[in-house]
Order: sequence, then C-alpha cells, then structure tokens
Amino acid sequence: MEASHSLIETEAWRQLDTVCDPEIDTVTIIDLGMVDKVLVSDNKVSVDLLPTFLGCPALGIIKENVIKAIKLIDEVKEVEVNYIKNPPWTSDRITSKGREGLKVYGIAPPPLKLENDGTWKVECPYCGSPYHSVENIFGPSACRSILYCKNCKNPYEAMKPISTMN
Ligand SMILES: [Zn+2]
Repeated sequence: MEASHSLIETEAWRQLDTVCDPEIDTVTIIDLGMVDKVLVSDNKVSVDLLPTFLGCPALGIIKENVIKAIKLIDEVKEVEVNYIKNPPWTSDRITSKGREGLKVYGIAPPPLKLENDGTWKVECPYCGSPYHSVENIFGPSACRSILYCKNCKNPYEAMKPISTMN
C-alpha cells in the first residue's frame, strides 16, 4: 500500500530537522527558519528554502544534504530543492530552540527588538551579560562581529538582526 502524501510530508519535515547548518552544527535548518514549504506530489518532494545571510558555499552544501536526507524516505523517488527569495528570510524566523543552539555554539542570537535609543542590545551567550568590548558592533556590511564579554571575558560572535520592518 502506498503511503499517503501527508505521511511523506511529516517524514520529510522530520528529516529536514536533521540537516544542520554546515558551519554551526548545533542548529538545524528548521531551527534557523530556513524551510518555507514542503510539497509532495506522487513520489516527488519539493522543498522551498529561504537563503539566510550564509555564504553561497554553505547554501550548496545544505541543498545537497537536504536531498540526501529526504531520499532516506523509502517512498521518495525524486527530491527538488529551491532557494526562494520571497518571503525574505528574517532573523526572527530563528526558533527558540535555534537561539539556544546558537548560544551553545558561542554565538549571540540576533536581538529580537531595538532598544529605545535605536541600538541593538547583544547578550553574551555564556553569561547573558550585555557588556562587551565593542560599542558600534555592526558595520554597514558586517553581518557577524566578534565581541569580548566584559563580565566572563569570553570572546563570542554576534549575529546581526535582519528584519523586513526597517
Ligand atoms: Zn559573558
């Protein structure tokens, strides 16, 4: 008997949650909010992914890993992965599990909101302290910067918040 589409779809989402960011192996592409759609038709699965600020090589690796993961499902004969730009990826798509995963890796997750004075407050992923060495942390082109925590003295990386609202 053929498995129903919805079963394949459920299994596909489960497989996608095993595909990690090639660089940050504590977060999956679902944690990062990169998966927009999974479509099943006959024995073919199409996955729409939203590219993050990650570099192009990482996107190629993720695509290959998604194809490999979905092909583990017996009923699936064909896998198609598309990177789409609409809706645009924003950093608030990162799930709370994803934010925890980034911290485990030593990366401060992107701030969820602007402070009243228009700045971003970044908290140390190790101790939660907002005090760090650099004041103007994100230059115009940088999406990640290295900060030093003034409290626990650890260096850490911070991710720039990306939003469609400004
Ligand atoms: Zn700290």
